[in-house]
Amino acid sequence: MPRQYPIERYRDIGIIAHIDAGKTTVTERVLFYTGISHKIGEVHDGQAIMDWMEQERERGITITAAATTCFWTPFGKERTKANEYRINIIDTPGHIDFTAEVQRSLRVLDGAVVVFDGVAGVEPQSETVWRQADRFSVPRICFINKMDRIGASFEKSLESIWQKLSPNAVALQIPIGAEEKLEGVIDLLEMKALKFEGDFGQIVREEEIPDNLLKKAKDYNPPTTLRGEKYSSLLEEAKMWRARLVEKIAAEDEKLLEKFLAKQEISVEELRKVLRKAVLDYKLIPVFCGAALRNKGIQPLLDGVVYYLPSPIDLPPVRGIDPKTGKEIEREASDEKPFSALAFKIAADPYVGTLTYFRVYSGSLTRGSYLLNSTTGEKERIGRILRMYAAEREEVSEIFAGDIAATVGLKATSTGHTLCDEAHPIILEKITFPEPVISIRIEPKTKQDQEKMSLALRRLAEEDPTFKVKGDLETGETIISGMGELHLEIIADRMRREFKVEGNVGKPQVAYKETIKGEAEAEGKYIRQSGGRGQYGHVFLRVKPKERGQGFEFVDAIKGGIIPKEFIPAVAKGVKEALEKGIIAGYPMVDMEVTLYDGSFHEVDSSEIAFKIAGSVALQGASKKAKPILLEPIMRLEVIVPSEFFGDTIGDLSARRGKIEETKDRLNLKVIDAKVPLAEMFGYATALRSLTEGRGTFTMEFDHYEEVPNNIAQEIIEGKRK
Ligand code: GDP
Repeated sequence: MPRQYPIERYRDIGIIAHIDAGKTTVTERVLFYTGISHKIGEVHDGQAIMDWMEQERERGITITAAATTCFWTPFGKERTKANEYRINIIDTPGHIDFTAEVQRSLRVLDGAVVVFDGVAGVEPQSETVWRQADRFSVPRICFINKMDRIGASFEKSLESIWQKLSPNAVALQIPIGAEEKLEGVIDLLEMKALKFEGDFGQIVREEEIPDNLLKKAKDYNPPTTLRGEKYSSLLEEAKMWRARLVEKIAAEDEKLLEKFLAKQEISVEELRKVLRKAVLDYKLIPVFCGAALRNKGIQPLLDGVVYYLPSPIDLPPVRGIDPKTGKEIEREASDEKPFSALAFKIAADPYVGTLTYFRVYSGSLTRGSYLLNSTTGEKERIGRILRMYAAEREEVSEIFAGDIAATVGLKATSTGHTLCDEAHPIILEKITFPEPVISIRIEPKTKQDQEKMSLALRRLAEEDPTFKVKGDLETGETIISGMGELHLEIIADRMRREFKVEGNVGKPQVAYKETIKGEAEAEGKYIRQSGGRGQYGHVFLRVKPKERGQGFEFVDAIKGGIIPKEFIPAVAKGVKEALEKGIIAGYPMVDMEVTLYDGSFHEVDSSEIAFKIAGSVALQGASKKAKPILLEPIMRLEVIVPSEFFGDTIGDLSARRGKIEETKDRLNLKVIDAKVPLAEMFGYATALRSLTEGRGTFTMEFDHYEEVPNNIAQEIIEGKRK
C-alpha cells in the first residue's frame, strides 16, 4: 500500500507534564476529539460519546500504549483526507523516577506539548522534564491546563514559565473568565472568542470578542493584570496581548519587522508562518490554555500541534555511525533513503505478545522483510507490522519514514537498538541508561507463585532497561533493582495487576559498588596433580583503578604464548565472576583495569576451568592489596521550600551528609540544589513534609558514585556480615 499521508503532514509528538498536571486527561480528550473528527458524518449523541469514553478507559490502550496514532484537520479547513494530519502521540511517563523512560521517548519524538497546572504553574518536575527536552532540542508548545480550578491564573502561570523555563514563551490565547466562570479561550492571532459547546465541548463556536464594557466589567473579573496593565474589557485585554504577540513574532523575521515598524497590516498566515519557524528554531514557545476536564481548549491545542510543531522533514537528518567505517553518517527523512529505525520500547501486550515499538527515520519497510539489528549484528524478520490507534490496532503491509509502529516476535532487539537495511547499515545514536541505584528483596506471597513471579519480573525487565532482576546465590532470594523507591513500587504494582502475582518486598537497599584506589599485582594458581588427569592454571594479574564510570577493562598482555590463546578468555571470565562478587562486602567491583601479564601452563593438565579459577583467585588477591573501597550512589536533589523553612531544611540536609551546591530565591521560595547520598534519602518525602508543614517539594535524580566515608563503610561492611 502506498504512503497515505505525505510526511509533511506527520507530527510525532509527546505530551509531557509534571505528574497530576492533567496529561492523562489531555491525552484522553485529544483521542476523543480526533476520534470523532475521524468519523465525520456520524451522529454522536451524548450517550454514544460517553460509551466510547468508557470503553476506552476500560481497554486502557490509549493510556498505556507506547504510541497512539490519531488524525486532525485544523479548524476552518474542510475535513477531507487532503487536509488531515497524522499525529503520532508517543507516551512519556510523568514521574521523575523514570528519567530513563522520559529520555528514550524524547529521543524519538519531534515535538512536545508541555502541560501545566494553571494553579501551580511551573512545578519542580516540569522544570526537570523541560531541561531534558532542552537537552534533546525538542521544539514545544505549552498548555496551561485546569484554568477552571479555584486559584487558577493564566498570568501567574505564564510568568512562572518566563521565570523558570524560558523568557521566549508567548501567549497565543488568553482565557475567557476564570475558575468556575471559565467560558472558553480567545485566539489572539485570529482575534476570535472560542466557546466549546455540546455535552463534551465537541462543538467549537467562534464568536466576536465581547467589548460590552458594562456587562463584562461586572461578570468578568479582570485577571491579576500583568505588569500593572488595566483592561476595561475583554476585547481591550485581548488587543494588548495581541500587540505583544505580534511584536514578538515580527522580531523573528526581517520582512515582517519592516511591515510592523511601518504599521502595515500583517496577515494571520504570515504571522503563523514566522511563528512556526521560530518554534522549530527554539526561539519562541506558544502558550495555549484551557481545562481538559471541562472540555475546553483541546481542539485549538491540536491546531497548535499542526501549525507549530515540526514534521519529520523539518528537523535535521538523523545521525549515526556507519559500522563498516566507524564514520559518522546522516540519513534524511525520506522514503527514498535506505531504511533506518530505532526501537524505543518493548511492551508486553495481553493480546499479541511482546511488542517492539520503533520509530522509522528513513526509507520504507514491507511486511515479511529482513532487517539488520546493527547494534547486535543479528538479522531480524519483520513478520507483522502494527499501528496503534485509540480503540484498535491495524495491521499494515508497509510503513514509511516518520512512522511509529510496532512489530511482534523480535528475538534479539532491545530498547535503543537500531534496525536498518542490511545493505546500508547505520547505528543510530544510542539511548544510554543509568545503572540501577536501589534494590529490594522480593518473594512471592505463596510458594506456588515462584515461577509466575520469575516470569513476570523477567518480562518487566525486558521492557525497562533500568530495571534489573537478580537471584541471590547464597539465599536463593530474588533481588530487583531500579532507579528509586517509587520505580520499584510501580513494578510491584504492575506485577500484581498485569501478572496477578503478589509479592512481599523487603526494605530498600542501596546498590553499593566496590572499586580500588591503588595498583597491585598478584599470582593465582589452581593446580591439582594427584592421580589421573590433573588441573593446571597459573596466572599473574595487575589491577589499576579507572576513572569513575569507565567500567571494567581486561587487557591481555601475554607474550610468546606463555599462556596459550585458548585459555585467555577463561581467565577473563574468572576475573569477571570475581568482580561480580566483590571483595569487601559482596558488591560488584567497577571501574578498574585488569591486566594479565604472566603465568604458565601444563601440556596435559591445563584446562579452561583451571585458568578460570586461577584468574578469579589472582583478581581477589590483587584487589585486596590495591586499597579497595566502597562506592555509594550520590543523588542530585532540588528542594523548594518557603523561605521560613529554609534553615531547617538546610540543617536536615547536612545531617543527611548532603552538600549544598547552590541556593536561589524564587519569589518567596528558596530553591536548594544539593548532592546527597542515596542511603540517607529513604523516607525523605515524609520528612520534608513534616519539616515544612507540607509545603516543600523535591526532585531527585541519580548523579554519580562516590567513595563512602570510612566510618560509614565499616558499618555497611559489618551489617553485611551479620
Ligand atoms: P496526569 O497525572 O498528568 O496524567 O494527570 P491526570 O490527567 O490524571 O489529572 C490529574 C487530576 O487532575 C485528575 O483528578 C483530573 O481529573 C484532574 N484534572 C485534569 N484536568 C483538569 C482540568 O482541566 N480541570 C480540573 N479542575 N481538574 C483537572
